[in-house]
Amino acid sequence: MATDNDEGALYDSTDIKTWSKLKAELFQSDLLAPTDVDPKDIRFARRITIYRLMLFMMLVSVGAIALESLLLEPLDTAITWVALAGWLLLAITAVWLQKQGRVFVPPIFALAFNITLVLWAIERGADHQNLWLFPLMIGLAGLLPTGVALLSGLIAIGSFLSVRGLAVQAEEFANYTALLSTWVISLAVMRLMTHQVDELADLALSDPLTGAYNRRYLQPQALRNLADYQRYARLSSMLMIDIDHFKSINDTFGHAEGDRVLKEMVVAIDQRIRGVDMLFRLGGEEFLVLLSEVGAQTATKIAEELRMNIAQMALLADRKVTVSMGVCDVTSAASPEEWLTKVDEAMYQSKEQGRNRVSTIQPTVAIDAQISSTLPIWR
Ligand code: GH3
Ligand code: MG
Ligand code: MG
Repeated sequence: MATDNDEGALYDSTDIKTWSKLKAELFQSDLLAPTDVDPKDIRFARRITIYRLMLFMMLVSVGAIALESLLLEPLDTAITWVALAGWLLLAITAVWLQKQGRVFVPPIFALAFNITLVLWAIERGADHQNLWLFPLMIGLAGLLPTGVALLSGLIAIGSFLSVRGLAVQAEEFANYTALLSTWVISLAVMRLMTHQVDELADLALSDPLTGAYNRRYLQPQALRNLADYQRYARLSSMLMIDIDHFKSINDTFGHAEGDRVLKEMVVAIDQRIRGVDMLFRLGGEEFLVLLSEVGAQTATKIAEELRMNIAQMALLADRKVTVSMGVCDVTSAASPEEWLTKVDEAMYQSKEQGRNRVSTIQPTVAIDAQISSTLPIWR
């Protein structure tokens, strides 16, 4: 039986993980390549909407500085040109985002550019431009992850202080404190919103009885796994689990006991799969596990272990609860629907052959052995 052993060592690439996570947070890589993101993802949709609004604000801000310098009070030819070029880039970003749903300039660059431009204008004597810092601070809070927003906000306020000089007069003091408050409150409001969106997403994507993901969430996940295979030859497998004679369990022990079996089954499966794997309740007493980085061969071993574990659990008095399983890896399907149909066929084969067993759809590409043997099976 596979246990937590040296296989786990491969997952300890913490440095790489931390760096890529930081990079993703800083540059919002998923905003740059939204093809990898489920377009229905509410978090993603929210950030795109905020970016659209902020781009509008930034276009007005940069445009106003350029116009003021051109028409009212010439600041500096360099500022004027930089502002005009930046405005054009922001405009392209806005159009691109509208037309393609893709991001041309990541929010952090757009915000950094605009804040720098405002500080530059202030430094050249256009003191009143500091008003733009207020909406820009809200932008930082709305578009960047909290940690990054905190840091960049501090840098922005620090730069503002140093541009203005530290001789504190009443008006400046009011400005600094108001700016600081705006920033703190926007951060708090944005965090609250993120928290609520997360809660909503959890509610929308999970099954209330067992807490497993629901069927609705399977489609985008399966789609992503298929794309990962087609693009990067990354394997994954579906594992279908159906409880045997569940109707008779309900009839004998009652619906409440049936519910308890379902919940305990989810806990047991969840403990055995890795953090990267996902467990879905498709409906009734049918579950599906999406296993990352394993092909049919390893997935079958995992399924076999799960099946034996479940059969050994003391879920009901005087009665064994068994499951029939189907396994199908990503190489056998071209769409989420086809994948689901095939894994269902495999599961039915297990039912037909007498239940309490695992059936596997033979993969079309035999690359499992090389890849999976080096990957951890359990978390
Ligand atoms: P098989 O071995 O062929 O899978 O037989 P089965 O009895 O498990 O299959 P069937 O699909 O006929 O029965 C599924 C049962 O699951 C029927 C339904 O009453 C029960 N069920 C569906 N949802 C729930 C639920 O949320 N809670 C409980 N307790 N029972 C449920
Ligand atoms: Mg059943
Ligand atoms: Mg069933």
